[in-house]
Amino acid sequence: MMKRVGVIGGGQLAWMMAAGARKLGLQLLVQTPNPTDPAVAIASATVFAPVDDATATAKLASQCDVITFENEFVDLPALSQIAAARFYPTLDSLKPLLDKLDQRQFLQRIGVPTPRFLAVEGEDGEFRHTVLQFGLPAVLKARRHGYDGQGTFILQHPESDLPKAAPNQWLLEEFIPFECELAVMAARSIDGEVVIYPTVETQQEQQVCRRVYVTAFAPAITAQVEAIARRILDALNYVGVIGIEFFLDRDGNVLVNELAPRTHNSGHYSLDACVTSQFEQQLRAVCGLSLGSPQLISTGAVMVNLLGYETSSSDYAEKRQRLSQFPQAHVYWYGKTSRPGRKLGHVTVLLNDNQDRMEAEAIAQAIEQHWYGSPQVG
Ligand code: ADP
Repeated sequence: MMKRVGVIGGGQLAWMMAAGARKLGLQLLVQTPNPTDPAVAIASATVFAPVDDATATAKLASQCDVITFENEFVDLPALSQIAAARFYPTLDSLKPLLDKLDQRQFLQRIGVPTPRFLAVEGEDGEFRHTVLQFGLPAVLKARRHGYDGQGTFILQHPESDLPKAAPNQWLLEEFIPFECELAVMAARSIDGEVVIYPTVETQQEQQVCRRVYVTAFAPAITAQVEAIARRILDALNYVGVIGIEFFLDRDGNVLVNELAPRTHNSGHYSLDACVTSQFEQQLRAVCGLSLGSPQLISTGAVMVNLLGYETSSSDYAEKRQRLSQFPQAHVYWYGKTSRPGRKLGHVTVLLNDNQDRMEAEAIAQAIEQHWYGSPQVG
């Protein structure tokens, strides 16, 4: 059996694999640039290097049975030169996923609904002409290295400022006036077994995820989500956990926004609310184990991200202590220094039979009021 798992990336997603690794008797070896990165503390060994340093990954590979990813900003062509390494998900299955344009083309090819899109190059007046021809409102996204809205620009008016800086390779897509945003985590094993977690609602502000509601959806919606998840996993011959983000439009149809070939913020609730967390599931899948149950062990859950609101080295111990006293709350703190907008931790609250969606919203509001010291507009 595979025992030593290499993880490319040492942020909170790798850090949260620790409990699953312990349970399964696995060692985690991590490639990450900084000694202060969250997963360094739980790794049995660390290769200190940027995530796209394939020479460092070759070193990691020499100490591991399998390598997986918590960050997809890797150098795929260089990784494919490491003959002795086994990667799950495989490099072939990652190929259409690392660039937002490739993702859209892949989804279109396999018949999955996705926003109308166009590839554009960022140069001078022609660029503006192309954008206006496409139609507004539109969304312009850097094809690679975007996260938490970095590299995403919503264009509302013809006189909107277009980004001038590099990178000049963009994905232009229609703005979807969505009813809400959904997400789902799914996993596929080496044998092709698929499990799908509950469909959740995610709420973003300034393109950053603020909260996730794990409460029941109409079967007509979850059926679409689950069929899409299966189609994507099978088309990629995927091994591991994948996060899929959706828009739900006003007619009740879902469109895929984005695929994350790894564990995902929208699945953090699974640490406390599911039989098998997304982190344990990823380890099970990439080590060739049978998959665990994705079922909820509570009626539902609400997850709130704790975002930085100031530059500080405080660990906010008192605030966290108070949050952990909320009924059924589980507080996670990633141990990072605080900067505005940075994901520093999260809180998951399990819901019981008597707590509906309204109640879940009130809980999220109370957590945010406590964390930020002021009510947050939802
Ligand atoms: P990132 O890779 O930075 O997470 P996303 O593509 O997921 O970027 O976009 C972040 C957020 O921006 C989405 O969750 C959504 O709220 C908004 N957004 C992105 N694309 C669109 C779109 N085509 N129409 C409407 N809103 C969008």
